[in-house]
Amino acid sequence: MANDKKQVEQITAMEEDFAQWYTDVVKKAELMGYSSVKGCMIFKPAGYVLWENIQKEMDRRFKETGVENVYMPMFIPESLLEKEKDHVEGFAPEVAWVTKGGLNDLQEKLCVRPTSETLFCDFYKDEIQSYRDLPKLYNQWCSVVRWEKETRPFLRSREFLWQEGHTAHATAEEAEERTIQMLNLYADFCEEVLAIPVIKGRKTEKEKFAGAEATYTIEALMHDGKALQSGTSHNFGDGFAKAFDITYTDKDNKLKHVHQTSWGVTTRLIGAMIMVHGDNRGLVIPPMIAQTQVMIVPIMQKKEGVLDKAYELKDMLKGFRVKVDDSDKSPGWKFSEQEMRGIPLRIEMGPRDIEAGKGIIVRRDNGEKIEVAFEDMESKVSELLETIQKDMLERARKHRDENTFIATNYEEFKDAVENKPGFIKAMWCGDQACEDKIKEDTTATARCMPFEQEKIADTCVCCGKKADKMVYWGKAY
Ligand SMILES: [Zn+2]
Repeated sequence: MANDKKQVEQITAMEEDFAQWYTDVVKKAELMGYSSVKGCMIFKPAGYVLWENIQKEMDRRFKETGVENVYMPMFIPESLLEKEKDHVEGFAPEVAWVTKGGLNDLQEKLCVRPTSETLFCDFYKDEIQSYRDLPKLYNQWCSVVRWEKETRPFLRSREFLWQEGHTAHATAEEAEERTIQMLNLYADFCEEVLAIPVIKGRKTEKEKFAGAEATYTIEALMHDGKALQSGTSHNFGDGFAKAFDITYTDKDNKLKHVHQTSWGVTTRLIGAMIMVHGDNRGLVIPPMIAQTQVMIVPIMQKKEGVLDKAYELKDMLKGFRVKVDDSDKSPGWKFSEQEMRGIPLRIEMGPRDIEAGKGIIVRRDNGEKIEVAFEDMESKVSELLETIQKDMLERARKHRDENTFIATNYEEFKDAVENKPGFIKAMWCGDQACEDKIKEDTTATARCMPFEQEKIADTCVCCGKKADKMVYWGKAY
């Protein structure tokens, strides 16, 4: 048993090596495993259930806005992928191809979808005839394949899970409205469910999606000061509609092209949750997404009445997601394990506590211990879960704000990238040459032009020419 305990504790300190800490936590909390297919991961139950919980709540929110789910094939014929020029150029370097069916060469090779714009367009071309057929608000939950060179659990793998929404509208205004609506939905989800504060903004031309008119993003700051793009929403205008000839007859009897959007989030959200909230004892999972919200740990459970009382307490708390750890491991082992797994609350109760009619609640997020009488347990647990959810968001927001810096000239900018991991707010002239230079000199990229603009200076942080756009910069995952 001593060995078991050591195992649980064996994670690299995040201050020492954040990347190794991340890998250790993913492994020790049993979220994910490596497979024999290079660059592809196995979701273990503790990892997959996080995705399921994200899916459930997000899907509910999608449907509230009128979105319906569909499912498209996973293969795209080469000729279809090539219909929109920018799009195919953007994805070609990382597409996986199927060239054989059984023993025979295929007449036309099929790509394994890296994203499904082209399939949706092909489908909408036949599906949409009249203004009465609009809008189309479809989404699919699926996996996509992008042949990435470097991979990392939840953040980047060759096959990954996501949702992709694809909508078609009568007007440009409606499409823009939907693009922003979904971005806001993602931002609210991150803050309310995952307790992750995000910056909403627009991507620069250089960073936008291949084939989009405009890409909007939510950007979050991880504990190590690196940014993570956590969700994107694209307005395609009528570019795809023209390439695929998706038209409808309007009320005025004129033939018009539709306007389209697409928007997606991936299992990166799980990576974000780990890197925003985790600590040196492991995961810290926000109560709203935690599969087990409360773990009851009976102490000296072989003593008469202890386990019975633990199950009785579990019954009392049936409004929450509660488990009793009645395994034969030592309490110390159980504590470390549940801390590693990020369970928001644990309740310790031994014979003496039971005699006194109380248990001890321990918060995972800050380690606080609270003595609570059994009759008050239900209301206290409810209150604490809410408090933890709120405190986690506040803590993450404070961390982000404390690690957001301002640069008014290039020296300050380079110093910040070098010495102050975090977001950098700086003005930009709009010229891609400056964006390229900044990336080359510092590896920092333009994360977004935030909706909430501030005037930090009159001139571009790179070239010194007149500038009126404030940009969030940072090193990113
Ligand atoms: Zn410039």
